[in-house]
Amino acid sequence: MLLRLRTIILKERKLDFKLGIIARPGSALSNKTGSFRSEIPVFKLDKCTGCDLCIYYCPEGVVFGDKKTKTYSFDEDYCKGCGICAEECPVDDIDMLLVEK
Ligand code: SF4
Ligand code: SF4
Repeated sequence: MLLRLRTIILKERKLDFKLGIIARPGSALSNKTGSFRSEIPVFKLDKCTGCDLCIYYCPEGVVFGDKKTKTYSFDEDYCKGCGICAEECPVDDIDMLLVEK
C-alpha cells in the first residue's frame, strides 16, 4: 500500500526513477544473519560514556547494554557487521574486527 502510494506521488511529480524497498529496522531478527558478516563489532568498554547511540543507530536493533555500568554488547546471531555502531560511536569505543572464515 505504502509503495503504491509512493509510486502515485512520484508519477504526479513526474519523477522518473525506480523505487527501492528498505526493509524495516530489526527485520534481520526473523533471519539469523550472523554467519553472513565479514566483520564484528568489538565493544572496547574503555572510553564509553553510556550515550546509547550504538543502540539507537544499529539498524537491526541487536546492540544491548547498560548505561549505568557502561557495558555494551551485541547479539552475534543477528548482527550483520555493517559497522554503523562503530561509525556513530562519538568516542571511538567500538572497533570492527575482520572475521576469519
Ligand atoms: S555492526 Fe553494529 S550496527 Fe551493524 S548490525 Fe552489528 S551491532 Fe548493529
Ligand atoms: S555509542 Fe559508544 S560511547 Fe555511546 S554507549 Fe555505545 S559504545 Fe558507549
